[in-house]
Amino acid sequence: MEYEAVIGLEVHAELLTDSKIFCSCASKFGGAPNTHCCPGCLAMPGTLPILNKHAVELGIKAALALNCEILPYSRFDRKNYFYPDLPKAYQISQNDFPLAVNGYINIETEQGIKKIGIKRAHLEEDAGKLIHSEHGDYSLVDFNRSGAPLIEIVSEPDLNTPREAWLYLTKLKSILEYTEVSDCKMQEGSLRCDANVSIRAKGSEKLGTKTELKNMNSFRAIERALEYEIERQKRVLEKGEEVIQETRRWDDARGITITMRTKEEAADYRYFPDPDLPPIVIEKDFIEEVRSKIPELSHERKERYIREFGLPEYDAGVLTDSKKLSDFFEECVNKYPDAKKVSNWIMVELLAILNAEGKEIEDISLTPDNLVKMLNMIDKGTISGKIAKTVFREMLDTGKDPSKIVEEKGLVQLSDEDELEKIVDIVLNENQQSVDDYKNGKDRAFGFLVGQVMKATRGKANPKIVNKLLREKIDG
Ligand SMILES: [Zn+2]
Repeated sequence: MEYEAVIGLEVHAELLTDSKIFCSCASKFGGAPNTHCCPGCLAMPGTLPILNKHAVELGIKAALALNCEILPYSRFDRKNYFYPDLPKAYQISQNDFPLAVNGYINIETEQGIKKIGIKRAHLEEDAGKLIHSEHGDYSLVDFNRSGAPLIEIVSEPDLNTPREAWLYLTKLKSILEYTEVSDCKMQEGSLRCDANVSIRAKGSEKLGTKTELKNMNSFRAIERALEYEIERQKRVLEKGEEVIQETRRWDDARGITITMRTKEEAADYRYFPDPDLPPIVIEKDFIEEVRSKIPELSHERKERYIREFGLPEYDAGVLTDSKKLSDFFEECVNKYPDAKKVSNWIMVELLAILNAEGKEIEDISLTPDNLVKMLNMIDKGTISGKIAKTVFREMLDTGKDPSKIVEEKGLVQLSDEDELEKIVDIVLNENQQSVDDYKNGKDRAFGFLVGQVMKATRGKANPKIVNKLLREKIDG
């Protein structure tokens, strides 16, 4: 039998506000444990929450960019459960009346554009964090994150493959980054994702029993976890057994999902409206004001790069996937108008290194200023394109000015004709066979001779002058 997977994703993104959602504590990541706390976010008796308007604004901004409808009336509810990182024993969330509903984003699959529905987007507070001791005999709790503002974005079960899930998340992350709603740093937990997945006979309308997957710390992990879970469910059904509705944890090192809790153990959250917070009533004018602050998004930038700079669609897509990379590119182009040259250095040299080392543009020391300086040095003939690669690598690691690197390492291009002529003479003397081959019509022999001069000058010879000298000497 042929099966089809049905996948829905729940994404939590931390909103980029200065303070927490219901108190004035700093909402910044990190800090010494329990230093960004007050009686409010520690749930001391008698404290009351006050809603952060900026969190609502960022929530609306994200929801609008996700093509959602903003509800004029939404409300906070208490989601009751016990856990040591949640001192109130309830989380303030939105259940019955979320901030926004009925959105979508388009993903570009190999079969074309696919519209993925967004069921709802709502605001809630984050919990603290438990730090378990290595020996497993105690745990510590840090409340710095307690009360940090979150937006939860719930997709419709419109995704059918792990690849589509990956595409959806990549697009969603890009939207949240471009709108500056969240920094989306998965390693700092400001973007987290759970997945629901079930399988059914292909063509069937009826949904199979789903499992929920947790503990996936990268988009790649989510893709792998879904691949594994779909295969696991297939094996269960093929054995004639039934899939059990349960929550499963992804073990990245072992590459498997493991039962966390079954439906019987699932919490009943006993939601009810939070009596400490008035409903959120959003005026149309406010929505329009927020809408006017939405900047150019990735797909718009992509189209502009194709139109304005004449970049190939693929290149424009790669450059605009990440806002930070795209901002970097734009800053270079502002100072060095040959966009294609800038794009080539980013697409070929920079991304190869970043991908190989698993880094992002913000993890390296290269600045747009230094890249532009280096391009100008190539144009002026101060360094060759080949030497530039060495300079580039050094700039990435050290952030140094390219002219400093060239000076320190003695990489200035050798353009002195008299000096090069001496080297060319030596090379010609030592390679008479290649000279004869070239004269007999073997063009490749010429390339070999150029290579020998480059080798003798450790790559520093100006290739244009070397070519000229060699031709003069051989052709006469
Ligand atoms: Zn606080």
